[in-house]
Amino acid sequence: MINRNRERHQPINSGYSNTNNTSNNINLSIDRIEIAKETMNFLMPFPRIHAILVKPNEKIPLEPDWQHKNNYPVTSTYVLNHLISGGNWGLIHPAGMSVGIDDDNSHIRKAVLSLGNTFSYNTGKPGHYCDIFIIKDEPVGNIPLIDGAYIRGKGGQNLGPGSIHPNGNIYGSTYFNLVPPLKIKKSELLEKFAPVINGKEKLGKNGSKAEYKKPINPESLEMKDLVDLSNFKQNGQKFQGPHPIHGSSTGSNFLVDLDLNSWHCFRHGTGGGPLQWIAVSTGVIGCEESIPGKIQGELFWKVIAAAHNNFGLSYEKLVEALGGE
Ligand SMILES: [Zn+2]
Repeated sequence: MINRNRERHQPINSGYSNTNNTSNNINLSIDRIEIAKETMNFLMPFPRIHAILVKPNEKIPLEPDWQHKNNYPVTSTYVLNHLISGGNWGLIHPAGMSVGIDDDNSHIRKAVLSLGNTFSYNTGKPGHYCDIFIIKDEPVGNIPLIDGAYIRGKGGQNLGPGSIHPNGNIYGSTYFNLVPPLKIKKSELLEKFAPVINGKEKLGKNGSKAEYKKPINPESLEMKDLVDLSNFKQNGQKFQGPHPIHGSSTGSNFLVDLDLNSWHCFRHGTGGGPLQWIAVSTGVIGCEESIPGKIQGELFWKVIAAAHNNFGLSYEKLVEALGGE
């Protein structure tokens, strides 16, 4: 794994010490794209972090509904081309399972450093940074901090490295700490930031309280815990009956194999294990979509959120039981 900590001692931005505007601008544009590309490659293993388009020299997202629809994997060429053509980009956290922090004063800095060494970069003003963390257990929304700063989780965005602040400074040009984002629990974040938190967390419209539909074995999440097999025909460890979601004309289009801990739908020729079944049974995907490799990245976190809302298990337990990044 790459683990690099780079400090740039000569600011690249044109705000200081430039005598030759033309050549400086050329260097400027090349370098900020390099910074953005390095960030994209570096954040690729963290699919819970997404990218959005932001207007040139501004902090305003370009496309509507960027929280839910118009956001992209960090390696998206669409985003990169937008940067190359002069735009800015933002880092967002659709599932709230990662955060970006406006690290704008010494008190916030202290809270960040008390958590450890994480991916961070300078933002628009001297002494201002953005720090990225991965959240291990449950979603984080937007939490107001002192001086108008925020912990930005679900529904928030920070400009990404290589963006240009309205004052001309380039994000990541003077400080670019390219280490993997630290994985922390939400409770650790809240504890360390308690002295600088200045308001209530907002979780956005999908952050509603969990509804517990039925008790479930919190350790295993096996198919036998997820499907009512009591009226199914049994043949050894195989159980066959009607599909619990879309039904069956024959009464036997759905097979659960307890040995393999798997299911199969004969109507759609699809199937999977508990993760795929939770996705289908909670409506995150249709039965016909349950093909190998389907559930990854943001979709994985949607399934985890659905499982959390349905069964009331912690995110950490669910990721442990269902497998994840
Ligand atoms: Zn089906």
